[in-house]
Amino acid sequence: MLKGFLSRLNAASQQASIKVEDLGDGIMAYRLHSRWTRILGFEVSFYRVGDLLVDTGFASARPLVLQALENSAISAICCTHHHEDHTGNAGALAERYGCPVFVYRPEHLDSEGLARLLSYRRLFWGKPGKFGAQAMGSRIVGRDSELEVIPAPGHSQTHVALFESVSRTVFVGDLYVAPGASAVMTHENPYLLADSLRRVAALEPRRMLTGHGIDVRNPVDRLLAKARSIERAAARSCRLIDEGERPRTVVRKIFPKGRQKDWMLKVLTQGEFSRLNFVRAAVKHGKDEN
Ligand SMILES: [Zn+2]
Repeated sequence: MLKGFLSRLNAASQQASIKVEDLGDGIMAYRLHSRWTRILGFEVSFYRVGDLLVDTGFASARPLVLQALENSAISAICCTHHHEDHTGNAGALAERYGCPVFVYRPEHLDSEGLARLLSYRRLFWGKPGKFGAQAMGSRIVGRDSELEVIPAPGHSQTHVALFESVSRTVFVGDLYVAPGASAVMTHENPYLLADSLRRVAALEPRRMLTGHGIDVRNPVDRLLAKARSIERAAARSCRLIDEGERPRTVVRKIFPKGRQKDWMLKVLTQGEFSRLNFVRAAVKHGKDEN
């Protein structure tokens, strides 16, 4: 009882809100905001395809999430990746519905900052709590829906895209958070990210739904454009560093616009998310590949 009260209090302090939207084709979208997402100008989204849940939102919105799904039948929870803004309610929902939680490569559950969350991640998303995860196979079959699993590493080692072949909708989590090359987390690999974008484009989806509210019809061109932009920016980063430029100078050359927003993102995320990380990752993983 005390736990429930505290989580409601936490939700209130985060000023969390949820909007539920019927997208057609048996797909429901759940759009979450908190004070932090409003400051940074994005949302955290999760989806229901028939009785399959794609992601679960962040922990501090848990009472709202449980309430929004109150009258839904859920037979499995499918995570696009294991970051806590998408798996924050997996444990609570699995317990309520007595259903499995599927993660691609669950052996990485404690990686990418999740073993010891930086304070900004606790502040932004709340305390996610543990959940037992089963490894995803090549498809997840519900009672009335089915999702194909497409490995899509880059943003996270556990990342997949989930493809619903009847409506040709692909759920891409954080594979596509912005057009073009953009700020990344310290653990990301831009080369794998570009390969994953091409793999998803090859499915020829009719609709792409992301983990942060982006909804694109006929997304193939957008996916390929982002892959090309990442590859170009990574190659240029390596070249400039080889020529003796400092990483911060390279960032200014590759990303001439939006420096203030990048600075704010970097400060708010204790340096975990930035364009400087993109340049560093391009050099680091470029060397891995050669
Ligand atoms: Zn993520």
